[in-house]
Parts: sequence; C-alpha cells; structure tokens
Amino acid sequence: MKLTHITKKYGETVALRDVTAEFEDGKITAVLGESGAGKTTLLNVIAGNLPHEGSVEGVGKVSYLFQSPKLLPNLTAEDNLKLVLVKEDYHKIEYVLEKVGLKGKERAFPRQLSGGEKQRVAIARAFLFPHDVLLMDEPFSSLDLSLKKSLISLTADLWRERKETIVFVTHDVHEAALLSHRAVLLRRGELFADVPIEGEPPRDFFAHSGEEEQLVRLLMQE
Ligand code: ADP
Repeated sequence: MKLTHITKKYGETVALRDVTAEFEDGKITAVLGESGAGKTTLLNVIAGNLPHEGSVEGVGKVSYLFQSPKLLPNLTAEDNLKLVLVKEDYHKIEYVLEKVGLKGKERAFPRQLSGGEKQRVAIARAFLFPHDVLLMDEPFSSLDLSLKKSLISLTADLWRERKETIVFVTHDVHEAALLSHRAVLLRRGELFADVPIEGEPPRDFFAHSGEEEQLVRLLMQE
C-alpha cells in the first residue's frame, strides 16, 4: 500500500502536508504523533473517506477499528458480529469470540458488557469483517493498563495467525513499540521519521526497547 504526496486541508488548516509513505503487506505499522498531528486524517485518507491531494494505491478493502466500540445497542454481541458477515461465515464467530475471551457472552447485549468487553467485541468484529487492510485508530487508549496489556497481546496473536496488513494510530510510544514492525512519525501534518522496530510482536509488555527510547526522543525533538 502506497501513499504519494498526500496533502489534506480543512479550510485553512493543513492536516497533512506532502506525505509519502509505503506500508508493507503483512506487517503492522504504527502511526505515531501528538494530538493534532494528522494521524486520524491519515487513516481516513487510507480508508478512502476523505477527499485529498495525492494518490493512494493498493489499499483494497478496509476494516476500521475505532477508539470506542460503536456496537449496536439493541443487538447481542453475536448479532453485532453477524452484521459484518455473510451467513456461510457465521461459523467463524465462535472461534473469534473465544479468542477474545468472550465465550459465554454471545447473547449479552452491549449494556451488559464492561467497556473492555465491548472493545473486545469491536476487535473481533474488525478482524471478522472481510478486509485486506485493518486500520485501527487509538484502539487501546481508553483502556486501563491490564486490559491494554491483554488486548495488545490479543491483537498480536490475531496478527500472528493471519499476518495481516495493519496500520494503527496511537500517541502512545510504548504501544507502538510493543505492537508494530515499524513506526512512522507525524508532526504538524508532516511525516518526519520512519523507525523500524526489531523482532516480531508480541513483545514483552514490561520491557522498554532501544527503539522505544529513540521514538520518545524523536517525538520530543522540536
Ligand atoms: P490527530 O489524529 O493526530 O490528533 P487529526 O488528524 O485529528 O490529528 O487532526 C489534524 C488537524 O486537522 C488538527 O489541526 C485538527 O484540528 C484538524 N482537523 C481534523 N479534522 C477536522 C475537521 N473535520 N475539520 C476541520 N479541521 C479538522
């Protein structure tokens, strides 16, 4: 997947300025940057949701995971998942719900689930929705630490099984270092650094790698 000379303006605000980047198939790329850097805008450009200058190639079908779960309140967990599948694929639901630790909650409505459980249904849905690329916008930001740890390792597990192309937006350097093969850094709409991260996710949640330190330094550099 390739972005070439992407510029996106909202009126006078330049949200992205001449961004060129490649995203490798079968790998996880983190898009890092502070609030307002243009991360969500970049994800929406990849998703094809926003008019922009420049070209986007090789995206295919997109599945989009938001920061909040956005489940339909009048449908059970299982029925929320059925919504994104054709009938022949309903059998996949049981496996994925087990994978996200929600076996036994199939019939629960969103109001009967905790915030973390709802986000797990949303992760299950994002993986089940047929796609070539999975885009995730701050999927773990609103979660407490232990839940964050378990959902990051869950996402890494699901990636390991399927070797999907994932682009994931975060302002959290630790998350990026744990879950990605590479981080691209945005500042005021410009892509200013591209950092490969050694090894394969999942990584040790309690460790802080050299790359993580490098990312912190880059982000804090004016
Ligand atoms: P991030 O996801 O890194 O926080 P965004 O992509 O949301 O950044 O925003 C980048 C810039 O574009 C910010 O200055 C933001 O205020 C502006 N922006 C984002 N969405 C809109 C919009 N719909 N209308 C006007 N300005 C927007």
